[in-house]
Amino acid sequence: MIAVVTGGGSGIGRAVTDRLRDGGADVVVWDLDGGDIDCDISDPASVAAAIDKTVADHGPPDRLVACAGIGASGLLLEQAPSDWQRVIDTNLTGTWLTMRATARAMVDAGSGGSIVAVSSISGTLADRDMGAYCVSKAGIDMLVRVAATEWGPHGIRVNAVGPGVTRTPMLGRVEQLPGWVEGLTERTALGRLGQADDVAETIIAVLEMSWVTGQTVFADDLEAHNGDASRIKEVCIDMSGAFIKGVDYNLTEAEITFDKFHAVKLVNDAVDKVRRAESKDRPELKRSRYLWLKNERHLSAEQSANLAALSSMHLKTARAYRLRLAFQDIYEQPSPGWGELILDRWYSWAIRSRLDPMKDAARTIMRHRDGILRWFTSKIANGLIEGINSLVQAAKAKARGYRSTRNLKAITYLIAGKLDLRLPT
Ligand code: NAD
Repeated sequence: MIAVVTGGGSGIGRAVTDRLRDGGADVVVWDLDGGDIDCDISDPASVAAAIDKTVADHGPPDRLVACAGIGASGLLLEQAPSDWQRVIDTNLTGTWLTMRATARAMVDAGSGGSIVAVSSISGTLADRDMGAYCVSKAGIDMLVRVAATEWGPHGIRVNAVGPGVTRTPMLGRVEQLPGWVEGLTERTALGRLGQADDVAETIIAVLEMSWVTGQTVFADDLEAHNGDASRIKEVCIDMSGAFIKGVDYNLTEAEITFDKFHAVKLVNDAVDKVRRAESKDRPELKRSRYLWLKNERHLSAEQSANLAALSSMHLKTARAYRLRLAFQDIYEQPSPGWGELILDRWYSWAIRSRLDPMKDAARTIMRHRDGILRWFTSKIANGLIEGINSLVQAAKAKARGYRSTRNLKAITYLIAGKLDLRLPT
C-alpha cells in the first residue's frame, strides 16, 4: 500500500501516518514543512510537483488521507475577504487539488484506491464566529459525494471523516481557557475529549471499508455539542443514503421516518417526467406542468376545469396523476395496518402501470417501506420541525438575538414545548 497523507506533520495527520506505517504501508507525507515532501496544498503547482515526486520515488499511491487544514475564526460581518479566501483556499480548494492529483494517478495506474478527506462536525452544525471554516468543511462533505460518483467507475472510493473537538495543536490557546476542557469533557458520552489517535483509528477504518463511498462519518459529534445521541428515539429524514448511514452510525437508538413531503415529491417528480416525455406528441400538455403538480384545492376555477378536461383524455400523464393522488391518500389512512395495506396495493398498481418513471419511484418507495410506514407511528415530518424553527427564528428576530444559548433554549421551550405552567389567569 502506498499512501499519501497531507498535513501528516502534526496532529491527526501524524497519528494517521504512524498507524499506517505500523501496519506496513509506504507513507508519503505532504506538509508545508516537516513532511517528506514540502507542499502547499492550496497551490496547484506545488501539488503537481508533489504528486510527480511521489510517483517517481514510490509509485502511484492507492490511498490518500487529505488531512491538511487550518482552523480559523471570524464573524461573517467582520471577516476580511482575504481571511475568508485563505481558509477556503486551504481547506476546500486544497483538499480538492490533492484529491484530484492522487485520483488522476490512481486512474492512470488503473489501480483504484481509497480517499478519505477530513471535514469536521462544523461542516454540519453551525458554529458562530467560524463561518469560513464551517463553509469549507461543508464543502468537503459535498466534494466527496460528487467525487465518489465520478470516480467510482475507476474503483476509487471517496469518503470524509468529520471529527468533533480533538486535542491537537490546532486547538492552540483555546485549550488554556479556564474550564474549557472540563466543560466539554462533561458533555461527552465517554467522559473524555478525542485525541488525534482516536480520529486516526476512524479514518483508517473508513479508508479500508470496501463498499462504502460518498459518505461522511462523524467521530464523537453530538456529545461535544451538549447532546446525548442515545436519547434521540425518532428522526425524520429524506431518503438519501448519506442521511440513512449517518443515522445508523450516530443515532443507534433512533427509528427513521422518511419525510412525507419528500416521498410525495418523489412521486410528483415521476408525474412530471411522464408529462415531459408525453408532451412531445401531445401539444395540449405543454404549459400544463403546475396543473398536475399543485394540490387540487389550490387551483383556480379555470385551472380546475383545464385539469378535468386533460384528465378525461386517456393520457399517460393523467394515469400518473391518479397514482400520485392515490399515493397521497395513503397518508390519510387511520392506522399503521391500513397504511401498510394501502401502500402495498399502491405499489402493485404503480409497478404494473407501464410508466417507467412511476415504476422507478415505486421501487424507491418500497426500498424505504419501513421508514415510510413509520410515519403512522411517529407522525413526524420535516415541515413540523421547520415550522417550529421559523417560530424560534421570529422570536429571535424580535428580541434582536438572545444574550446566551440558555435564554434561547428557555424561549424555545416556552414557544414550542407545549408546557403547562399552571399560571393564574
Ligand atoms: P494540526 O494543526 O495539528 O495539523 C494540521 C496540519 O496541516 C499541519 O501539519 C499543517 O502544517 C498542515 N497544513 C496546514 N495548511 C497546509 C497547507 N496549505 N498545505 C500543506 N499542509 C498544511 O491540526 P489537526 O487538528 O490535526 O487538523 C487536521 C484536520 O482535522 C484539519 O483539516 C482540521 O480542520 C480537522 N479537524 C480538526 C479538529 C480538531 O478539533 N482538532 C476537529 C475537526 C476537524
